[in-house]
This record gives sequence, structure tokens and C-alpha cells, in this order.
Amino acid sequence: MDNNKGSVWVIAEQGKLGILDVSLQLIDKARQLADTLGSPVEVVSLGYQCELIGTQLIAAGADKVYIADDPATAVYQAELYTKIISQLFKQQQPNIVLVGSTFMGRELAPILAATLKTGLTAHCTDLCLDEKGILEQKIPAYGGMMTIVCPEKRPQMATVAKGVFGLPNPDNERTGEILTLEIPNDFKARIRTIEIVKEEVPSISLESADKIVAGGAGAQNIKGWNMIKELANLLGAGLGSTRPAVDEAWIKIDSMIGQSGKMVNPKLYIGIGLSGEQQHMVGIVDSEIMIAINNDEQSPVFSQVDYGIVDDCQLFLPELIKKLKAHQEQ
Ligand SMILES: Cc1cc2nc3c(=O)[nH]c(=O)nc-3n(C[C@H](O)[C@H](O)[C@H](O)COP(=O)(O)OP(=O)(O)OC[C@H]3O[C@@H](n4cnc5c(N)ncnc54)[C@H](O)[C@@H]3O)c2cc1C
Repeated sequence: MDNNKGSVWVIAEQGKLGILDVSLQLIDKARQLADTLGSPVEVVSLGYQCELIGTQLIAAGADKVYIADDPATAVYQAELYTKIISQLFKQQQPNIVLVGSTFMGRELAPILAATLKTGLTAHCTDLCLDEKGILEQKIPAYGGMMTIVCPEKRPQMATVAKGVFGLPNPDNERTGEILTLEIPNDFKARIRTIEIVKEEVPSISLESADKIVAGGAGAQNIKGWNMIKELANLLGAGLGSTRPAVDEAWIKIDSMIGQSGKMVNPKLYIGIGLSGEQQHMVGIVDSEIMIAINNDEQSPVFSQVDYGIVDDCQLFLPELIKKLKAHQEQ
């Protein structure tokens, strides 16, 4: 078989409300890639009490769906999921495998890649095919975009965050095959997930926020960070961050915007004390109006935004907050 002719697969993740949007978006992308290659789209999805999932996946663009519908796969179990999916991949020899950059995907994809002794590109921001049909996996790096390819090993594996690709238009007339996966009953896991408890989410979700205030390393300390948070609250904006703010534990990782974080599209984005690194900026390219506050007039962030304020945020923010409060009290 031509090395690039096998099927294009998606590992589709189930949430409380059905298949996650990111998985549907990946099925749409898989469909485009598969149509170019002349290959089928196949989807594997593990869960419990999910009998309607198969038809939803076919309507989204899958030709064949493998479902595990069993109490043992009700919640994500790293070892069991790896065992089931890697066995399936060894039998079916997929050419390409796409996985959502979710908490599950970020763990499962590298374990699978290591098990299958193949490569994986994490957090891709675009996927296309070269003239030989090899998957070009695009990521922001070194101040620009980099293309990673996996020319020899199969499958070619990539993770992609929610929002990078669009949702498919479901076609309920599409037909496909739905197969049920056997769950190994003698499987002894060393680690077992008992329950997945969702963390409390901030009242304004970054994905749907009209306004976003994002802070970076330039906040310098928790006091500086709290001023950025206060500004976000005063503006009724979502609070986003760069990676250093997460590393400093000023805020949780689900606030991180960019290549390994969230893709956002607010009407107004204000970036404070951040340098405009590609890995962050790739997450905000669809923002309408962008403002940066940075004390270094040479900062690369200024060439990427609509308005720039050169100032020390430790001095600028207290003044801005004072003025906004006075304005709101009037
Ligand atoms: C594979 C990979 C994936 C990554 N994914 C992401 C991602 O998804 N999201 C992300 O954000 N990062 C990501 N990163 C990290 C990214 O490369 C950068 O390191 C990060 O975005 C830089 O954050 P920053 O701008 O806050 O910090 P810095 O680059 O350190 O910039 C701090 C800025 O603050 C300014 N400053 C300092 N003091 C003040 C002050 N008092 N007032 C005003 N300004 C001040 C400085 O002039 C500087 O420009 C990733 C990296 C890799 C390798």
C-alpha cells in the first residue's frame, strides 16, 4: 500500500453533552485531508451509554466509526484507552491520526505515539498535505511558522486545539459503518480514574468573551497580577494569560492563550506586560482591536497590535483603574 494512502482517523472525545466540538472540528479537517488523498475517514470514540454517538460522527463526516460503549470506558482511563486504541491502530494501520488538544488528548496522544513508535506534533495550528500526500503539521516556532513532517513512520499524529478549525455542517443523510469495540475483560490497570470533577470555571469564558485582558511576565509579581485581574473585572472582560503567568501560579492553565492554550476572537484584546511571542499571538489573531501595554518601546508586541502604550504597568494600571472606577461611580 502507498505509505500515504491509508485512512485519516480522529480520536473523538465524549463530554457530558456528547462529542466535543474540537473532535467534530477535527473530523471536518480529516474529511478534507481524506478527500484529497482519496481515503476514508475513520473515527474511534470510547464512552458509555453513547449509542447515538455513531450517527452523529457519520453526519459530521466519518465513513467508519469504532465505538466502545461500556462502563469500563465511561471515563477516560489512560492505560485502558491506550490498550484499546493502540490495538485497533495496529490492526487498521491508519495513515493520519488527529486528536484534540484537550486534557485527555494531551496525555493520550503522546502515550499512543510512544506505544506505536511514531512521531507526534502537539498543538498544531494548521494541517495540510504536500505534493506526495505527507501531512504538513504547522506550529508557531522561532518567531514564525514551522512545518513538521513524519515521512517514514505511521501513523502521522497531531494534536489540535478547539477553535483552530471550523465545525462541520452535519449531513444527516450520510451513511457509514458503525462497529463496536471489544473491551478486554482481563485488563489490569495500574492507575484507574474514578471520577472526573470539573473545576469551577470563571464566569466569563475566554472563548466567548467580547473583551479580553491578558497578562504576562511583565506583571512581575502577584500584586502586579492582581491589578491586571482588577482591570479585567472593571471592564467585564475575560482574563487571559501567557505561559509565564501560569508558571508563576498567578493563574490556572485554562487561562493560557496561544498555541498550547486557547484560541480566542474578542472584539477587544488588551495585552499587558507580554512580549508578543508567536506562541501566544497565534491565539489572538482573530481579535478585532488589539492594544498592548509594555515598558519596552522596542518590544515586538507593538508591531502586532493596533494601539501601543509604552509604560510600566505597575505605574500605568493603578492610574487607569482609578480613572475607570471614578467613571463607573459617576
Ligand atoms: C511549544 C511551545 C508552546 C508554547 N505555547 C504557549 C502558549 O500557548 N501561550 C503562551 O503564552 N506561551 C506559550 N509558549 C511560551 C512562549 O514562547 C513565550 O515564552 C511566552 O508567551 C512569553 O510570555 P510573556 O510575553 O508573558 O513573557 P516575556 O516574553 O518574558 O515578556 C514579558 C514582557 O513584559 C514586559 N515588561 C516587563 N516588565 C514590565 C512592566 N513593569 N510593565 C510593562 N511591561 C513589562 C517586557 O518588556 C516583556 O516584553 C510556548 C512555548 C513553546 C516552546
